[in-house]
Amino acid sequence: MWDAVWLNAHLATMAPESGGDDGYHAIRDGAVGVKDGRIAWVGRRSELSGPPEDLARAAFDCGGRWITPGLIDCHTHIVHGGDRANEFALRLKGASYEEIARAGGGILSTVTATRAADARSLLQSASRRLEPLRREGVTTIEIKSGYGLDLDTEVRMLQVATRLGEETGIRVSRSFLGAHALPPEYKGDADGYLDLVCRQVMPQMASEGLADAVDAFGEKIAFSPEQVSRVFGAARELGLPVRLHADQLSDQGGGGLAAAYDALSADHLEYTTERSVEAMAEAGTVAVLLPGAFYFLGEVKRPPIDLFRRHAVQMAIATDCNPGSAPVTSLLLMLNMACTLFRLTPEEALTGVTRNAAAALGLEEECGRLAPGLSADFALWDIAVPAELSYRIGFNPCAGVVRAGQAV
Ligand SMILES: [Zn+2]
Repeated sequence: MWDAVWLNAHLATMAPESGGDDGYHAIRDGAVGVKDGRIAWVGRRSELSGPPEDLARAAFDCGGRWITPGLIDCHTHIVHGGDRANEFALRLKGASYEEIARAGGGILSTVTATRAADARSLLQSASRRLEPLRREGVTTIEIKSGYGLDLDTEVRMLQVATRLGEETGIRVSRSFLGAHALPPEYKGDADGYLDLVCRQVMPQMASEGLADAVDAFGEKIAFSPEQVSRVFGAARELGLPVRLHADQLSDQGGGGLAAAYDALSADHLEYTTERSVEAMAEAGTVAVLLPGAFYFLGEVKRPPIDLFRRHAVQMAIATDCNPGSAPVTSLLLMLNMACTLFRLTPEEALTGVTRNAAAALGLEEECGRLAPGLSADFALWDIAVPAELSYRIGFNPCAGVVRAGQAV
């Protein structure tokens, strides 16, 4: 006997094993059985083995709506202090990078604000940003540290990320991003800072179970391939998987570097070359595309979508929610931008926030598809066809969100 069955719904299962000839692997007039927070059965309503009241303690009529897997935002910096609205305004008035830095802008202003914020205020501001994502059907979110750049604040950020999950019921995957920028007290001493990251902070994160993965920012303005390798080597010794901010502003061979460490994902990838794409395909590293940052920074070089297709690299999409380059709290808007700016198809876009986003977090056997055995995470939508999710701008057709079988 199931706990509940959801009836009279069309299912975008996103699960190749359920067949279907479109990218949504859709089942028209389907049903989903749920038991103990997990999906027990998915199929056509006509194939149920008996009347709903004999199969489940509760039956929900979805009124012909669509059900998709709960959406997954697989790259965010949603926990941080302050914002950068002033810097945004200054830049639009023509201020130079230096003037902005002198006025206290840039990434280090977020570091200062985050160090000054206590856990309670970090939790409050992150909750406010998470709420619009949840209302759009997000049931899993990745959250990075990286605005503390010291032991106490990095730990506090990931403790807050953990709390956020416990308080909202949303699944949270945490990445330690100590190698995000060089803190002011280590100016000119990147190797000294990486000593702190690799010998002290990362081991503590691992021993307290605060990090599910380790991330780094590989770029001319951040950390070199050699420095990233050092961070990834330390992560490997601690048994933590890695991901990389790669090739966003220049080709650093970041996609290939990530692949060499069997990274779960390489993210941004605007300047990634075919050689890196081949290495990613070989390693099964997911390409996470961040069209919100591309848009907000007014970038013109698009990530090599055709190469990802040709080499069958899985593509995911995320908000990159952060105060500097992507103050974004709408994953549906990212679906639209992935289609309009990067020319993904709506099928690819939805796959990018479900099945492939789960793979980017190493959670492909836990969420991202409507399939038996997976967590009962799904969203109900007032739409006629799934392409509407990518098509509309500023419209939220989400009619309900279920996480582990419970409405959230
Ligand atoms: Zn990022």
